[in-house]
Amino acid sequence: MGFGYLNINGSLYLKNNELYDLGIKHFFSTRKGGYSIGNYSEFNLGLYTEDESAEKNLIKALIDNTMNVDKAVFLRQVHGDEIYIVDRENYTEIRGKFGDALITKDIGIPIGVFTADCVPIIVVDYTNKIVAAVHAGWKGTYKKILKKTIEKMIMELNADIENIFVILGPAILSCCFEVGEDVFNKFNFKEKRDGKYYVDLYLENKKQAVDLGILEKNIFLSNICTKCNNDLFYSYRVNNNTGRIGTFISL
Ligand SMILES: [Zn+2]
Repeated sequence: MGFGYLNINGSLYLKNNELYDLGIKHFFSTRKGGYSIGNYSEFNLGLYTEDESAEKNLIKALIDNTMNVDKAVFLRQVHGDEIYIVDRENYTEIRGKFGDALITKDIGIPIGVFTADCVPIIVVDYTNKIVAAVHAGWKGTYKKILKKTIEKMIMELNADIENIFVILGPAILSCCFEVGEDVFNKFNFKEKRDGKYYVDLYLENKKQAVDLGILEKNIFLSNICTKCNNDLFYSYRVNNNTGRIGTFISL
């Protein structure tokens, strides 16, 4: 159980062991082993940043993980709750739309999200072969984008709740996610320390999954804080002009 790092062609990726054992292609990228320099150093996959190396890095990451470069789909993320089902007919049309979650059941279409502190989430129905990638910052978490994505997988693609894995990648954890009182008041999992307010986005998202009936044993938390581990992952809180890790999955 758990997570492990894999060095592929000089770049470092985080993988979930359960998905790896099932042979499901996926990765959470790190900062190690790319072409970016300066604040973006070195493996920024965020296409919508002002880093001209991002596209080259993304293509490398997809190739390293034997994913189809031409059919990769990602969105212009807006901290909302717009969710798209991607298939072999519509993938060029969906690519680059405004939204925060993607679902597919078609083979050879990598779907992904870009994050720096927000929670990247992979959802997999491993028997029916349906996958999703979700971007959940505090706004997306508050709008219950994970819950809505899983519901869409069930309602529209007949996913089975008991066969669903939910995997939370590196994000800003409750050790570092200080918020204002207004944001603090919106959430259940939170703590006041030294007069400051902290929210736990991991537990908030975990609860959304558990409330839907996802088995606790099928929820995997990487428990890696992007701010505490800024050498390995991008953190918007450390530097708001920085890169993004990419989280991709492909059947
Ligand atoms: Zn931390």
